[in-house]
Amino acid sequence: MPFDSYQRDINYLRISLTDHCNLRCVYCMPVNGLHFLPREHLLTPEEIASVVRAAVSVGFRKFRLTGGEPTLRPDLLDIVRLIAQTDGAGELSMTTNGILLPGLAKPLAEAGLRRVNIHLDTLRPERLGQIMRWGRLEDIWRGIEAAEQAGLRPIKLNAVVARGHNDMDVAEMAALTIDRDWHIRFVEMMPFGNGECDRVATDQYVSNEETRARIEQKLGLLTSIESDSSDESSNHKLPGARGVVGFISPVSAPYCGSCNRMRLTAEGKLHLCLLNDDEMDIKKQLRQGGPDAVREVLRKAVELKPMGHRLPEGIFTQNRRMYQIGG
Ligand code: SAM
Ligand code: SF4
Repeated sequence: MPFDSYQRDINYLRISLTDHCNLRCVYCMPVNGLHFLPREHLLTPEEIASVVRAAVSVGFRKFRLTGGEPTLRPDLLDIVRLIAQTDGAGELSMTTNGILLPGLAKPLAEAGLRRVNIHLDTLRPERLGQIMRWGRLEDIWRGIEAAEQAGLRPIKLNAVVARGHNDMDVAEMAALTIDRDWHIRFVEMMPFGNGECDRVATDQYVSNEETRARIEQKLGLLTSIESDSSDESSNHKLPGARGVVGFISPVSAPYCGSCNRMRLTAEGKLHLCLLNDDEMDIKKQLRQGGPDAVREVLRKAVELKPMGHRLPEGIFTQNRRMYQIGG
């Protein structure tokens, strides 16, 4: 098992497939001034599969595809197929904005994808257009339905909460869990770099304590339920509800002590901690070394993983934005 220097079992690899996206959420991607990775810099499906094989051999068990928007990769089905065929890498999921799922959910499930987390910030179409810019509720909703029909269950929805954008809609989102066995998870905004998204994340930040109070005021008290110790979400149920309301609170209640993850960027860097800049290059070993060299970088990355973030001291990732890491 890959234990880091703080005795954390690092067994979960989040793999970013691209830095492109078909949306421009206000806390994640600016509309102007973007520079994307040239295509030849991206890891190929075979290279991604090689990293996954090496990761399994050093003890990783959980894999998630993310981005940017992972469904924009034209070779997504090949990537899923190759990972799902790797012994020991069966637990494969994806984080997506859902827009392209109507055409992809069934083939993705057939290729071996188990589950999806779909990003939806509000059920109000006008406000969704403001916070997820370019996004339309009906498109994301169709994606959710397609995922459910394809058996990519349980459906988990991620809502990032921003003051003045969707903080007034959190109870309506949470109420989706009353009749459905969905998980609705509210995510606190994190700052990255220095620019307009960083300002949104700081100036419009809403704590999950406030989000929870709003939900309970409208829908009744939440009861805490047991969660896996490595689950970043603290999970609850509304009275009589089928589904789960979760809170992901990296800012107000950091869970660095139980962090179990490592991140691979689309161009082949291991990003050791979401809110730090430490990285290690794995592409060079993929292209010039061999499986042993790739395994060695993974082991080293786990060993060097920082203890946690230093947001309270005002120190956070400067070199990358969220869409260049993958959440
Ligand atoms: N495009 C996909 C999506 O939106 O789900 C996958 C990539 S996105 C970067 C992964 C997750 O990061 C999303 O669920 C989104 O809610 C979250 N996210 C983006 N920017 C964030 C920020 N500044 N703070 C907290 N969460 C953020
Ligand atoms: Fe795109 Fe996801 Fe970032 Fe929104 S959060 S801009 S959907 S990568």
